[in-house]
Amino acid sequence: MLFAHDTEVSLLSAAALVNTDSTDGDTLTTVDQLDAFVTANEFTGSRAHDEAELRAVRRLRGRLRGIWTADRSALVDEVNQLLRDGRALPQLVRHDHWDYHLHATAPEQPLATRMAVEAAMALVDVIRSDETDRLRTCAADDCDDVLIDLSKNRSKRFCGVTCGNRANMAAYRARRAAGST
Ligand SMILES: [Zn+2]
Ligand SMILES: [Zn+2]
Repeated sequence: MLFAHDTEVSLLSAAALVNTDSTDGDTLTTVDQLDAFVTANEFTGSRAHDEAELRAVRRLRGRLRGIWTADRSALVDEVNQLLRDGRALPQLVRHDHWDYHLHATAPEQPLATRMAVEAAMALVDVIRSDETDRLRTCAADDCDDVLIDLSKNRSKRFCGVTCGNRANMAAYRARRAAGST
């Protein structure tokens, strides 16, 4: 494992949030879709289930996309800002099937704040470990999804298998075309 377990889970959730707004469309436009996202990513704590909550999460999504592609010093500024805005106070907790991990917000704080601070806390680890080059965007031509490369050999280039397969197929066709002339 590269980072602590909760850090890796948080980074994957943050990437998943950014990627709800992809070149294929936006899958976070209704409160129901937000509910599904929160359930799939196992976010705990209070919920408003309203449009204001959805708007706040969508704003965070845009901000996280910017963070993903920022240079190191801009990244640090943004992460510090997120921690200040959320009044982050790290505490070790365990709940459900999760052993001890960090929560830096109270369950009563708004969902978008809790998501922001969780992402920021995870990015703190990435920055401190000097691993910010693992924050990437998909290498496929027609995809701008983000990814966190958690592989040992730093080899992850695509957001998922679909993009990876498509790029491999394109490269294969290009080789064949080159070979047949
Ligand atoms: Zn937790
Ligand atoms: Zn992709």
